[in-house]
Amino acid sequence: MLFDFDGTVVDTVELIRESHRHATRQVLGVELSDRELVARVGLPLSDQMRAFSEEHADELLRVYREWNHGHTAELIREYPGMSDLLAELRAAGRPLGLVTSKMRPVADLAFAVLPLRDYFDVIVTTEDTVRHKPAPDPVLHALRALDARPEDAVMVGDAPFDLRAGAAAGCITVGVTWGFFDRETLSALGPDAVVDDTAELADLLLRR
Ligand SMILES: [Mg+2]
Repeated sequence: MLFDFDGTVVDTVELIRESHRHATRQVLGVELSDRELVARVGLPLSDQMRAFSEEHADELLRVYREWNHGHTAELIREYPGMSDLLAELRAAGRPLGLVTSKMRPVADLAFAVLPLRDYFDVIVTTEDTVRHKPAPDPVLHALRALDARPEDAVMVGDAPFDLRAGAAAGCITVGVTWGFFDRETLSALGPDAVVDDTAELADLLLRR
C-alpha cells in the first residue's frame, strides 16, 4: 500500500500554501489566490516554481525553502487517525510505501517533527527516479523495492498526479479529499475510490 506524503499522510496544506505565498509575493510581487498557489502541489517543487515564473524559478525556490524550513515544525500536522491506520496496516502484515515528490532532506525535516518514518518499508523521494509523478516511475520504484505486483497494490493520494501515477503503474487508486484537491477534481480522473476521512480509508484498506 503506497501513500503520497503531503496532503495525504501529513497536513502541510497551510505550510506549503503560505510558503508559496511568501515566495511569490517577495520574488514576483504578486498576490495569487489560494487556488493558484496550490494548483501544482504534488509535482516536484522546481516544476511548481517554473510554472510561477520560468525566469525567477531559482530565486523562488530559494525563498520558498527558507520560509518553509523555518516554519515546518510550527505548521506541519499529522492527519487525525493516520498513525493509527498505518499501525493497523502494519499489524495486518501489509507492506507500506511512501511515494513523495519531496527531496529526501525535506522529507527528513518532516520526520524530525512527526515520527512516521518507521511505518514505511520504503520511502521514494524525488532523487530516486528521473521522471516523477504523474509518471508511473516512482510508484514502480516503490513496488520493486517491496517486491510487489502493481495489480496487488493501492496508491493513495490527494492529488491528480498521485492518481495518474498509480493508474499508469497499473495499481488500484484511492483519492483522499482532506488534502490539496477536492472530490470533483479527483473523481474526474476515475479512481477506484475517493474517501473523505481516515476511518473510511481504514475500512477500505483493511478489507483488502
Ligand atoms: Mg499530495
